[in-house]
Amino acid sequence: MTTPTHQPFQAEVRQLLDIVIHSLYTDREIFIRELVSNASDALEKLRHAQLASSGTIHDPELPLEISITTDETARTLTIADHGTGLTREELERNLGTIAHSGTKAFLQSLKESGGSTPGSLIGKFGVGFYSVFMVAKEVRVFTRSSGSDGDGLVWTSDGATGYTIDEAPGQSRGARIVIELKDDAHDFSEAATVKRILEKYSSFVPFPILLNGERVNTVEALWLKSKNEVTDEQYDEFYKFACKAWDAPRFRLHFAADAPLQINALLFVPTENSEKFGFGQTEPGVALYCRRVLIDAQPPDFLPEWMRFLRGVVDSEDLPLNISRETMQDSALVRKLGEVIAGRVLKLLEQQGSEEPEKYEAFYKDFARFIKEGVANDFRHRDSLAKLLRFESSLSDPGKMTGLADYVTRLKDGQDTIYYQIAPNRAAIEAGPYLEAFKARGLEVLFAYEPLDDYVFTSLREFDGKKLVSVTSENVKLDDVPVDSAEAPLSDDDVSGLCSWLKETLGDAVTEVSGSARLVDAPVLALTPEHAPTAQMRSMMRAMQQDVEPVKVKLEINPRHPMVKSLAVARTAQPELASLAARQLLDNSLLSAGLLEDPRDMVKRLNELLGKALAR
Ligand code: ADP
Repeated sequence: MTTPTHQPFQAEVRQLLDIVIHSLYTDREIFIRELVSNASDALEKLRHAQLASSGTIHDPELPLEISITTDETARTLTIADHGTGLTREELERNLGTIAHSGTKAFLQSLKESGGSTPGSLIGKFGVGFYSVFMVAKEVRVFTRSSGSDGDGLVWTSDGATGYTIDEAPGQSRGARIVIELKDDAHDFSEAATVKRILEKYSSFVPFPILLNGERVNTVEALWLKSKNEVTDEQYDEFYKFACKAWDAPRFRLHFAADAPLQINALLFVPTENSEKFGFGQTEPGVALYCRRVLIDAQPPDFLPEWMRFLRGVVDSEDLPLNISRETMQDSALVRKLGEVIAGRVLKLLEQQGSEEPEKYEAFYKDFARFIKEGVANDFRHRDSLAKLLRFESSLSDPGKMTGLADYVTRLKDGQDTIYYQIAPNRAAIEAGPYLEAFKARGLEVLFAYEPLDDYVFTSLREFDGKKLVSVTSENVKLDDVPVDSAEAPLSDDDVSGLCSWLKETLGDAVTEVSGSARLVDAPVLALTPEHAPTAQMRSMMRAMQQDVEPVKVKLEINPRHPMVKSLAVARTAQPELASLAARQLLDNSLLSAGLLEDPRDMVKRLNELLGKALAR
């Protein structure tokens, strides 16, 4: 026998323990949920190993259940399972360091909140095993790993600085956690208290829980039931406990299918988008089961990546139990299953969009990023995803949104293009020079405010056979409309003379200058070539330290605008002033397009122009 040596906890563990012990008093009872859920996970892993017959299992006849015993006289609480148990290495790794992502996120959020610990946070993350030290003077974990060559071991700690691991011959498979309660935590050795807590937190644990020998939970695989057998409350509970969620579900999808694959699925769209809280990318949360046996809680490449916000369970009898994570990745069956689920989820969202638009828009406001990411990356589902997009529009009130399908119902006769403009906000679009031409022609323009929207529109290219075109693109072809203006336009000759002079004066900065029928109030307008990176892409490229060539635009001039008319005269009468004005007009138009890269020359020139104007 080796003598046990005292091992220190990893620094993060000590930090966590300190918080757990000193600041989380309000929620102390959750340690029971955490330990029961660990026991359940260990049983789940064991059941899977049994069914997949991977290796020999120690004590194979032991029941897959969780036994809890209270002892009021000894002031202890014991939680035991016949799950996988832990080897010495696993004890050291799992109960001495923090590998668990939820616990890491918890620590991170504590750091961000400056160390104060709102009691509600703990429920959100679950701090796992260490939460037991809220109530424990000392904890002993007796264990025997399910592998054939395991040893009986006991891990002991007072939760202060470290732990010891000692040999403990004669253990049966699994883990038995004996908690010696603190003086102010004796109520956790009372059966009635523990029963109340188990009923509150553990209704969906998929293994029998026995308290002092008596069964306390009914094991339910809710997803296998038919819809009319399940109440809203049961669904919500299931979401919270089985999907380890801390909010309420926003939408749910419960269905069974027999063809092409046998499927029982229960899925939830959360209320909260946890990526908004800055914990990094959400981990996928749809688990795969085969006849109630967990195959993988986070199956790789099962659903498209953008669907990572979904939570729930998919159970299919068609899945082979012994499928491993590696084979899952290239299993045609898993892919097909994922395809069916993805299709159903898309259909659900589309339905919500048309049947409950307000509820859908609320979802969209929080989850638009995922949809847009899908449009940009998930080629397979692009068309369905496009129907889920929402934008403000020139025809809707601020804050109101519309979809591409609705836009199409409002197309004018002969209109085969969907127009959009990307700018930081509505005010910028409304004050800018592009919108007026579309307004004058009664054409709707979608307003998009995120740099990502650029990728969305360029990836989509079209919707329902209609081209998607930015109002800033030189590809916009607008018919002449009678403009209601007292101003007579310049003659065609004057326009072409002015245009060639402008091209000469502005040189390489412009590709072309022409007279425009589309302008109403603005004097000039810059149009970008179809495949040129847009203003938003350019700023992203710059942010990524890439070299960005100055953009060459096509300039359109408004032959009715008084300033343009004066310029036509000035170019011969005051050539020097006219050329300053021409360059200023170009910069003004670039500014409106968000394309003016360096304002220094522009400011200098503007000052020169002001000086001339004031000197008159
Ligand atoms: P987690 O959220 O990963 O469960 P915990 O701190 O609660 O974090 O537990 C750490 C790890 O210790 C678990 O992931 C598991 O590997 C191991 N563990 C805890 N309880 C048991 C148990 N009853 N049986 C086997 N392994 C366990």
